Amino acid sequence: MELSHRQEQIINIVKDNGPITGENIADRLNLTRATLRPDLAILTMAGFLDARPRVGYFYTGKTGSELLSDQLKKLKVREHHSVPVVVNDKVSVYDAITTMFLEDVGTLFVVNESSLLVGVLSRKDLLRASMGNQDLSDIPVHIIMTRVPKIKICHKEDLLLDAANKLIENQIDALPVVIDREDGQEVVGRLTKTNVTKAFVDLVRDENV
Ligand code: ADP
Repeated sequence: MELSHRQEQIINIVKDNGPITGENIADRLNLTRATLRPDLAILTMAGFLDARPRVGYFYTGKTGSELLSDQLKKLKVREHHSVPVVVNDKVSVYDAITTMFLEDVGTLFVVNESSLLVGVLSRKDLLRASMGNQDLSDIPVHIIMTRVPKIKICHKEDLLLDAANKLIENQIDALPVVIDREDGQEVVGRLTKTNVTKAFVDLVRDENV
């Protein structure tokens, strides 16, 4: 993150004098508290400064990579997942392959008639099923899918980092984002390796703005 001259000045004042009130920082710079407010907000949000009520601002002393790591740990699945693509458990492998191509995704989630999660289909699951001589229109997906309770899931409020760890530890490409219901889990999203990569790239890009 590129700091303005004034933001650098503020950091130096707080480094030397903190904890110090916003009023005092403003006095030292011959500015009003109101003029300073946006800069203080940016520096606090970015993690350079911390503010304690009735005490004032102090310097956190965090390095660039510590600040980036703090930001990374704040990301939630909620802001980064994609829409889910689901198929019914009665559809054929042939139809699932067609859906995968048309929707341009690598993972399909399989749901039952109550729209609850029952399985996952990956590209390789479908390829494997295509290797025999059977007619793919005759094989229902529930025969070949990975099924509950083996399925790894995540929730919207989970940390993106935790979900990313699940992808890595289980060597899978996507997690269904679910809402827990009494009778099972409703699929409301799809968290993929691409989502995680994009969040990571966006974070670094924002830092450089
Ligand atoms: P591919 O098989 O195309 O490389 P994955 O690595 O995602 O794609 O899938 C590997 C295996 O793990 C497949 O058999 C798939 O059904 C299963 N799988 C995929 N996603 C999940 C998940 N969220 N939970 C459990 N198993 C999964």
